[in-house]
Amino acid sequence: MKFGTKAIHAGVEPDPSTGAIMTPIFQTSTYVQAAPGDNQGYEYARTKNPTRDALQNNLAALENGKYGICYSSGLAALDAIMKTLSTGEEIISSNDLYGGSYRLITRVYGQFGIKAHFIDMSDPKNIVQHINKNTKYICIETPTNPMLSVLDIKAICDIAKMHKLKVVVDNTFASPYLQTPLDLGADIIWHSCTKYLGGHSDVVMGAVITKSKVLADKFAFIQNASGAVPGPQDCFLMLRGIKTLHVRMDRACANAKKITDFLLKNDKVANVYYPGLKTHPNHKIAKKQMSNFGAMISFDLKKNTFSTAKKILKSTKLFALAESLGGVESLIGHPASMTHGSIPKEDRLKVGLTDSLIRLSIGIENIDDLIADLSKAIGKV
Ligand SMILES: *Cc1c(COP(=O)(O)O)cnc(C)c1O
Repeated sequence: MKFGTKAIHAGVEPDPSTGAIMTPIFQTSTYVQAAPGDNQGYEYARTKNPTRDALQNNLAALENGKYGICYSSGLAALDAIMKTLSTGEEIISSNDLYGGSYRLITRVYGQFGIKAHFIDMSDPKNIVQHINKNTKYICIETPTNPMLSVLDIKAICDIAKMHKLKVVVDNTFASPYLQTPLDLGADIIWHSCTKYLGGHSDVVMGAVITKSKVLADKFAFIQNASGAVPGPQDCFLMLRGIKTLHVRMDRACANAKKITDFLLKNDKVANVYYPGLKTHPNHKIAKKQMSNFGAMISFDLKKNTFSTAKKILKSTKLFALAESLGGVESLIGHPASMTHGSIPKEDRLKVGLTDSLIRLSIGIENIDDLIADLSKAIGKV
């Protein structure tokens, strides 16, 4: 099955008791048993729920994996991955991570004696010098936020294989429609389903996907043992959102391409960061491992101050000033004061995250309206 068919049909069967074409919301905490131990595969809803099962099977199919395990948020999914490690074990992570991931790895798992090395993986060979006998996972996120750098997933997986390490990929920004890291050698994929998978800014959820039965059993065990499970209504909304992932993504990517064209021609704009641009330093890798370049764009201004950026952030009408991304509606954000406010300024500037850097999550509105909105707002500076 091709992607668009899988998005709609994989894991989803008409309800056998009624014929309902949509997966019912099994809003129940427990299941009646005929006799002790005699049940229909469901005993208690933290452990298993049919709405959640359908979603998990759907997600596994989308990532070309075998097993999907859902959690109550993206960070709860990463939390489950970290819980498969023991004190004294180490991970090597790319240094340009979602802030919440960095916080969980360092401040929660650091105190349990799990060590993380955050390094520049733009040259995958940099990884080798940090590998030791305690290393378990190589963790990456690509494309990154907000600079939209792209890491070479296959090259990183090749190095990991040579050292018998597993590769963990946060695939939130690309979504499985644009990039399937399991096909490139990765072992564990995780998502903030809150973003493109859900796609309508109405659910917080996470998922882990793998081909390995051994790993899947661990993740299912943690799902039940720690209990960070999504509710059935949220699973239903996620299934519903996923049905249009490919259509939404096609439109959002097409809109993003046109907006980069507009930004490049605007004389107030200094730099435009988008992996689809031939001038982007990682364009070739992006082209190799992604089927399109996504719908996240960052740019900064010639008049490079927070106050010029602020003027734009306050002036857009369609682009809403908000954190998060991946919904049908376009969002605008200011990483230096919002998502990346806790990073020291000199570290920010080193990677190009200037005071005027603005991040856009491009939605699926009419492109002319989006460009008119941005054009008017940028015209104010
Ligand atoms: C939002 C996000 C997360 C965290 O997911 P939540 O669902 O908010 O817990 C992790 N990684 C990336 C890239 C994100 O954008």
